[in-house]
Amino acid sequence: MKIVYDYLIVGSGLFGAIFANEASKRNKSCLILEKRSNIGGNVYTQQKDGINIHAYGAHIFHTSNETVWNYVNQFARFNNYVNSPVANYHGELYNLPFNMNTFYQMWRVITPDQARQTIEKQKKPLLGEPANLEEQAQSLIGNDIYQKLIKGYTEKQWGRDCTQLPASIIRRLPVRYTYDNNYFNDPYQGIPMGGYTKMIEQMLDGCDVKLNTDFNTDREGFSKLAHKIIYTGQLDAYFDYCYGPLEYRSLRFETEKLDIENYQGVAVMNYTDSETPYTRIIEHKHFEFGKQPNTYITREYPLEWSLGIEPYYPINDEKNQELFQRYHLLAEEQNKTIFGGRLPEYRYYDMDKTVELALEVVRQELGEGVNYGH
Ligand code: FAD
Ligand code: UDP
Repeated sequence: MKIVYDYLIVGSGLFGAIFANEASKRNKSCLILEKRSNIGGNVYTQQKDGINIHAYGAHIFHTSNETVWNYVNQFARFNNYVNSPVANYHGELYNLPFNMNTFYQMWRVITPDQARQTIEKQKKPLLGEPANLEEQAQSLIGNDIYQKLIKGYTEKQWGRDCTQLPASIIRRLPVRYTYDNNYFNDPYQGIPMGGYTKMIEQMLDGCDVKLNTDFNTDREGFSKLAHKIIYTGQLDAYFDYCYGPLEYRSLRFETEKLDIENYQGVAVMNYTDSETPYTRIIEHKHFEFGKQPNTYITREYPLEWSLGIEPYYPINDEKNQELFQRYHLLAEEQNKTIFGGRLPEYRYYDMDKTVELALEVVRQELGEGVNYGH
């Protein structure tokens, strides 16, 4: 291992891997430190019996940014998977996102006009902006859908009442008056054939990678190894939680191998009642149209977060935002370290946004010359 690198990159997720790739293309030497025993961050997939298991939750790449799409297609061939989850409410099945199929299943209405009228009758009129998630949902889609498909799922996922949650959480879900079960509105969507890990391996080609190594255990020592640091870990951890920890919502994944070919017939089934302890079951083979004789499923359980547990969803309330701002000010004083990615920015970023932000940092730090594909 060299003594001095141009860049020490903390974290081998999408953000760190893109930076590493662009830096080494410009003949900069990179050392990547990763505290987990695998590369890839949350997009990591593990192959078992020919099936790529999304180890940190289902990851579907989708974007409306053509540049981002062309860029990632240089590192993998994407298939034509379209996410169309099914909601299971006490054994009643509904298509997602909320669209004409859902409205037919809920009320037996057939035309968009009938659906609009039904929703209109159930809508709670809003005076001004919705104060919370419940108000937002009821004003957008009516009470039946709120009760059966939103309330139970959301309260499990976030561990609190819908009246205590911000409306913004569900604004990303489409509501459509067409028979269209595509969960996303973006024109580009797919899964990298052969798994995300293969894609990240391609990006990290030519860089030194050290797994099972937490940068924060010896920040000073590791920092001496490189001229500059790209840090993609938790912001509060970098500063030894000096103002206290930023809060998160976590998840627990329970994966099971089944000796049957097809368990649920769809990659994602959401359990939207409040009694089922998990929010969804993922059947991984369907992301890549697998035909293997067996299958792997993962139950996703929401989990109260505490220090030391994987941080998945930032809690976007005032208290945490204020805390984040305080850490952010400290970060701005660090001239040897560049902070980037979902953890240092304490934001829920989809992968396409992560790519966009990583390329922005690349341009600022390494200059132009990114190959955006075609
Ligand atoms: P990460 O992937 O978190 O990578 C950071 C890496 O840094 C990790 O490997 C971590 O172990 C390492 N690290 C942290 N601290 C240290 C340290 N001190 N020392 C060494 N290493 C360290 N996006 C989509 O577009 N579509 C989806 O379907 C989708 N599904 C998701 C489902 C779930 C459950 C979650 C949580 C996210 C999902 N996302 C999805 C978002 C996606 O995961 C992120 O956009 C992306 O992974 C962010 O990449 P990153 O490199 O910023 O962070
Ligand atoms: N949601 C819901 N019912 C569903 C799916 C989602 O009420 O069947 C709500 C829930 O509050 C969730 C939010 O919509 O947190 C965003 O859902 P999305 O699928 O985008 O969340 P993610 O996959 O990122 O967890």
